[in-house]
Amino acid sequence: ELTVEGIRDSIGAIPDYPKPGIIFRDITPLLQNPAAFELSINTLKQRYEQTGITQIAAIEARGFIFGSALAYAMGCGVTLLRKPGKLPGKVVSQSYDLEYGSDELQMHENALTANDRVLIVDDLLATGGTVVAAHKLIKATGAEVEEAAFVVSLPELGGEDKLQQAGVACYTLCQF
Ligand code: IMP
Repeated sequence: ELTVEGIRDSIGAIPDYPKPGIIFRDITPLLQNPAAFELSINTLKQRYEQTGITQIAAIEARGFIFGSALAYAMGCGVTLLRKPGKLPGKVVSQSYDLEYGSDELQMHENALTANDRVLIVDDLLATGGTVVAAHKLIKATGAEVEEAAFVVSLPELGGEDKLQQAGVACYTLCQF
């Protein structure tokens, strides 16, 4: 029977993508493995089902896959955090630094309220910049952030420390 260690074994490694010297951790084999996908979602569901979460804030694009499956399993909603220019309504924006340059996340401005309790979900935690930006957008609405959950984290890139400094608890199914 598949264990949480089996989830880790279902993650692919693509050398030199997107740049020479980088090993890209690829969640597509996990998604193609029904037992690994189901165990990933069920493990997260068990952790969060008693915590009163009302919305999962899912980060474009791979966070949408895990976030929406988890929201369906838990019976809560999905709030989309998207790249610029994708959401049709009035948005709030938060930019964040990348290694070279910057990027931005947007959320519908009326998507969350102070009555919401939110779990942030993405596939992978690297430097933490994306999730710190997501956390700022969510906190500005008055909503509470329970935690940020990931399938994979890369501890050498410092994301867990960065989230801790920002006051965001985090949980990951496996690490590389
Ligand atoms: P961070 O902001 O540096 O933590 O980068 C995390 C974001 O970049 C997430 O949305 C990930 O989907 C994406 N990302 C960074 N590195 C990888 C990788 O090795 N595999 C898959 N996604 C990655």
